[in-house]
Amino acid sequence: MDVFPFLIIGLVAGSVYGLAAVGLVLTYKTSGVFNIGHGALAALAAYSFYVLEVLWELPWLVAAAITVFVIGPVVGVLLEFLARRLQGAALTLQVAGVVGILLVVQAGVELLFGSQKVRRVPPFLPEGSIEVGGTFVQFEDIATFVIAALATAGLWAFLRWTRTGIAMKAVVQNPDLLELVGRSATRVRRWAWMLGTVMASLSGVLLAPIMPLDPVQLTLLVVAAYAAAAIGGFSNLPGTFAGGLVVGVLASLATRWLTDGILASLPAALPFAVLFVVLLFFPKKYLADRTAVRVHPRPAWRAPLRLQVTAGIVVLAFLATVPAFAGIHLVDWTVALAMVLVFLSLSLLVHTSGQVSLAQIAFMAIGAVTFSHLLQGAGLSWPLALVLAGVVAVPIGLVLAVPAIRLGGLYLAIATFGFGIFLQQMFYTQDFMFGAASSGLEVRRPVTPLVDLTSDTGYFYLVLAIVAVAVLAVAVLERGRLGRLLTYIKQSPKAVEASGVPAAVTRVLVFCAAAFLAAIGGALAGAAQQTISADSYAPIVSLTVFVIIVLNGPATPWNGIVAAAAYTLVPSYFPSTEVGTYLQLLFGLSAIGLVLLPPIGLPRVVTESIDRWFRRPTDERSESPGRAAERSESSESPVLPEVAADGVILEAKDIDVVFGGVKALDGARIVCRPGRITGLIGPNGAGKSTMFNAVTGLVDPSAGSVTLGGADLGRKSPSARARAGIGRTFQTAELFESMTVRENVAAGAEGRTVGLDPRTHLHSSPSERERIDAATEAALVACGLEELADRHVMSLPTGIRRIVEVARCLAGGYPVLLLDEPSAGLDHNESARLGELIRKVADERGIGVILVEHDVSLVFGICDEVYVLEFGRIIFEGTPAEARRSSVVQAAYLGTEEDTAGAVAAAELEEVK
Ligand code: ADP
Ligand code: MG
Repeated sequence: MDVFPFLIIGLVAGSVYGLAAVGLVLTYKTSGVFNIGHGALAALAAYSFYVLEVLWELPWLVAAAITVFVIGPVVGVLLEFLARRLQGAALTLQVAGVVGILLVVQAGVELLFGSQKVRRVPPFLPEGSIEVGGTFVQFEDIATFVIAALATAGLWAFLRWTRTGIAMKAVVQNPDLLELVGRSATRVRRWAWMLGTVMASLSGVLLAPIMPLDPVQLTLLVVAAYAAAAIGGFSNLPGTFAGGLVVGVLASLATRWLTDGILASLPAALPFAVLFVVLLFFPKKYLADRTAVRVHPRPAWRAPLRLQVTAGIVVLAFLATVPAFAGIHLVDWTVALAMVLVFLSLSLLVHTSGQVSLAQIAFMAIGAVTFSHLLQGAGLSWPLALVLAGVVAVPIGLVLAVPAIRLGGLYLAIATFGFGIFLQQMFYTQDFMFGAASSGLEVRRPVTPLVDLTSDTGYFYLVLAIVAVAVLAVAVLERGRLGRLLTYIKQSPKAVEASGVPAAVTRVLVFCAAAFLAAIGGALAGAAQQTISADSYAPIVSLTVFVIIVLNGPATPWNGIVAAAAYTLVPSYFPSTEVGTYLQLLFGLSAIGLVLLPPIGLPRVVTESIDRWFRRPTDERSESPGRAAERSESSESPVLPEVAADGVILEAKDIDVVFGGVKALDGARIVCRPGRITGLIGPNGAGKSTMFNAVTGLVDPSAGSVTLGGADLGRKSPSARARAGIGRTFQTAELFESMTVRENVAAGAEGRTVGLDPRTHLHSSPSERERIDAATEAALVACGLEELADRHVMSLPTGIRRIVEVARCLAGGYPVLLLDEPSAGLDHNESARLGELIRKVADERGIGVILVEHDVSLVFGICDEVYVLEFGRIIFEGTPAEARRSSVVQAAYLGTEEDTAGAVAAAELEEVK
């Protein structure tokens, strides 16, 4: 029976986690913005309560009421204002915004209250206890549990039965619909943020008497609520509260049994372990990502290569003189150099690939500790130990990246943040991390016979050399294929996969590379300081460095250099100990400013004059059209299709697709032959796009099979199907918006040369590059896009954008092409030209085309065969001539007169007849 007390403690702690988590889930569900700073709201409330009750000596009930019902809602309204700006922003900006709140609250509290004096909130709930089955249960605990449970139940009832509550649920489902029925989605969201903040504030007040106040501790405690939210699938409120109880009870029971050795640290780390298990293993459906991320691309201006090289040499020359003047700050300069690697690793993630990591400091810790042990314990040579210190971080990065690949980018942010805290709670205190009783670890500098590298000056030059090489390597990778693939992925993951690139491999690759770099940075910085301790690697620091790199903009490697200087050197030259906190405040405020203020960049006058001075024609790939044309003529079409024996290249058989009870496809079958154009027509919502999605692996059919060249495609991923030879366009064109027409088209050709082997994501051989260029030029010429090749696609009219997408597919050289309404947005002449192009491609290259079209005259004009789809069933199959005569086809079109598109199609059908 001695488990009972632990159960009680667990339930009480769990109810507070649950309460906080419910608030988090509510705001996430209604706004799509995951407030990573939710814990900071609890900390804010705890301190407000402290001020009101302890300093101003108000009765506790009044103090609690003001904190929860006045300050809470006010903060909630402010947050809603910020969240409105965050909705639909890039994920990195979304995370930076909410992390900014967290940094501001923490730094603000620390500056106002200092960290010297221990501040406590005395217990305020009724005292006394009651005996239950031989154990005394405190009234206080009962009260805490009841308050938390009642608050959750109240919220749940509110959502279920009040008009505002029901509207709030509707916002989650469909904000536009709500605007239509006349309730402002903004007003409803404001309610959600107010209620969410009230919940967080209540949990803060309940947590306040449990321990001495500390902004970081309070914030991190509520991160445990993430685990509760995850158990509730980030959406179900009762499930979330129950999740809180589960986490609390597990952690409490763990303190009962796990008392020895490393396992004794598990209880504190347990919420993060639970979080991770959920993110890794719970079914994907259960954890749908709700962040609405739209990319708002702007063609990025890049300084000319010559200018960058010149600037690089100048910076290097300056750094070489640092030992002459740095004096006592020299070690800090060395640390700053090492930090350049950490910031570059983040820049690769954040700017180049649009991924968020909130664990970069944890990777530094792993690198530094491993490095120390390999040198001291294992006695390895210095260079080998350095490399291995980086390598150790790679598998950890691999595991951490899994939630992101499985569930989407937001979950990488959550998982990495949780991982940083997990590492701290579980391992920082272990003897094998930072020495017995966390006394600190020694990190040696290299001893060499010829030059003295152990002195501060000698070591500075060594690090300078290593970092210079690493920076160069990153810059080359970023300008090469890896950088291109990451940019494609950031702008249109769908189009990348459809071009054959397994984006998951690229994402994991860059995450592992970033972990490697950060670990090396940690090792180098550790050896600069010579002894390291856990204090330098607090998980919260990962948030600061993340925000700094977001603020520094995307220009690698310069952003890393400026960031490292701001992060390491500025505090070093300021004697005050508080400067770090002021900087944190500044970074937090700037992150919020970044969200609220319009983006700033170099004025055009400046960029244009820089371009005029430094750019040489050979800088970018702007080869003379003559040469390009010459090449495209000498090159044959890149891939010739395999003709299957029976003349069928693609066959989709008996496909069933069900969307929540609606059968979008019902035993549909379609066949595509080399060199032939197969038309697929039917009214809106008939299932045509769904058919394409089933064939390309974007949706999982519940029955049926797709074969390409006789081979069953089974459950192959979309990118694997593209590599096997199926190219497609999308009904709403998917383009890489900030890139030029040529770059978009080249992506199609390049995608086919990238496979599962990570090496193919890094580098392309010159001959491969040549083939890609040739295929690109040939596709541009075929589609008549030569004139527009250097225009950014975002500035082009819809019709041309569609042709660009077709050109991208042609450059990919697929034997099978699926075109989803390519003529939408084209005028009559353009449409006719597109028809000619498709016909020519089929005839000359022997490509099999399936064409989904509303323009019936186009379909009947160029197709060899026509399928008609209605309500997911193929109701007609035959030649265009037969289709014209078919009563079934006419009935299908005439039967949907309310459907305007169908009616138009029917009219056109008449016309054609
Ligand atoms: P078409 O391209 O012929 O106009 P679609 O294939 O887009 O039609 O849609 C077929 C049916 O499936 C429609 O009723 C549509 O609402 C439904 N549908 C399509 N995609 C989804 C989805 N992701 N979730 C739920 N329903 C969907
Ligand atoms: Mg469609």
